[in-house]
Amino acid sequence: MHDQLFIDGRWQAPTKPATIDVYDPYRETAYHTVAAGGAEDVIKAAAAAKRAFPAWKNLGGQGRAVYLRAIASELRSRAEELARLSSRNNGKPIAEARIDLSDAANTYEYYAEQAVALEDKQNSAVAVPDSAFASRLRLEPTGVVGLIVPWNFPLVTTAWKVAPALAAGCTIVLKPSEITPIVELEMGAIAQRVNLPPGVLNIVTGTGLDVGAPMTTHPDLAKISFTGSNAVGARVMAAAAAGVKSVGLELGGKSPIVVCADADLDQAVECITGGIFFNAGQMCSATSRLLLAREIADEVMQRVIAAARALRPGDPLDEATTLGPMTMKAQYDKVLGYIERGKAEGLRLVTGGGRYEGMNHGWFIAPTIFTDVPVTSALWREEIFGPVLCTRTFETEEEAVVLANDCDFGLVATVMSSDVTRANRIADAIDAGHVWINSPQVIFVETSWGGFKASGIGRELGPWGLSAYLEVKHTTTRL
Ligand code: NAD
Repeated sequence: MHDQLFIDGRWQAPTKPATIDVYDPYRETAYHTVAAGGAEDVIKAAAAAKRAFPAWKNLGGQGRAVYLRAIASELRSRAEELARLSSRNNGKPIAEARIDLSDAANTYEYYAEQAVALEDKQNSAVAVPDSAFASRLRLEPTGVVGLIVPWNFPLVTTAWKVAPALAAGCTIVLKPSEITPIVELEMGAIAQRVNLPPGVLNIVTGTGLDVGAPMTTHPDLAKISFTGSNAVGARVMAAAAAGVKSVGLELGGKSPIVVCADADLDQAVECITGGIFFNAGQMCSATSRLLLAREIADEVMQRVIAAARALRPGDPLDEATTLGPMTMKAQYDKVLGYIERGKAEGLRLVTGGGRYEGMNHGWFIAPTIFTDVPVTSALWREEIFGPVLCTRTFETEEEAVVLANDCDFGLVATVMSSDVTRANRIADAIDAGHVWINSPQVIFVETSWGGFKASGIGRELGPWGLSAYLEVKHTTTRL
């Protein structure tokens, strides 16, 4: 496990010696320390990225694709080892960590192809209505970019930013979450292994205040792409405003899952439980508001409660574990706080409701469900980011859509109905960046990721993810 900063192609100690403890959430113990970087290290990393930028940009898409494919190949060849590193630090069951590795590798492969396609598009002629002129298009990298990521899907959230930024020709200062830096630092080792030119990818570990904030004001960072909470996202945007920096924001969610009376109930139970209990509910895309057609509500709820109780807490590295602990103590306390608030509000608790009983250690929360939750409740309106499901019933499709959209966020949604026309009608009416119909939350790298309303600004993945790191430039010549 690495513990230093990765700057200019080398492992380096932070300018001011300081460390951060890294925790194992299953054992509740610190098991490693990493460097606590500071503003001086951001300056060093940005300078290295700036030096590396011209050559990386001029390498062209074909040349950059070679490195992206090599990164994907490294991730695949080390997948099991990296999944285990991630599982231990994050607390996610090993099977879920393996999915992360595969998603990350797919992302680098996809953007390798996008880099090649980008090269093919350069200097394409643009039709103009006056034959005395000719115009051509170039798509140029934004420059040195600052990427700030959270702790719930390490390596994946990172890949969604690093891969398109590299494909576009940008060079990078990456700040992993201080909670889950272990597997993110392996990207430095991978960069060395694939001989990525020094300075193209720099990784500075540290806190949000010591590393993240100086990134948002550094004059040489042309863009900040941030994934995290709304509170910090707003701060990032305000700080970036002073330097007129471009920002991409992937923020929170409080997403609905609408289950119509004609839904396949086996599929509905699978999608409801997966949508809220995967990664112990620590997902921006958690479908934490369940809207059930009244006719089927009792039956579905009984089955969902049974599925929730069947989840097996345990050592995340044990293949039999299906429910991990919260990744950090602060999140554990926050989720318990919401549960207590729900009880104090008099909400109807049908399962769970606190720490997972019988677990001697680990920040485990029992999968929790409140029913008939009023729309005014904080539990209905605010992102909890844990295994807490709130439910309501609806009578008509129109009512379901109104309830689904009555929310500050608009990240994702799920619709369950055996009538595909109806499901699509509901999907089209919901304000969300990605809607699944009768499907678990599959995310194809070809489709977009990002939200309406307070869920953020911009889109990741697909060609939109690449555009986020490109400037559009036309050159027009009088003939
Ligand atoms: P967070 O906002 O606390 O931290 C995110 C990152 O920002 C961390 O690396 C942190 O160190 C850094 N940071 C903190 N203060 C900063 C500052 N002042 N300036 C710059 N950087 C700063 O979020 P978190 O608790 O790590 O993650 C959970 C949140 O992330 C949830 O709200 C979740 O919905 C959101 N999230 C969104 C998506 C998405 O794609 N929309 C994906 C994953 C997580």
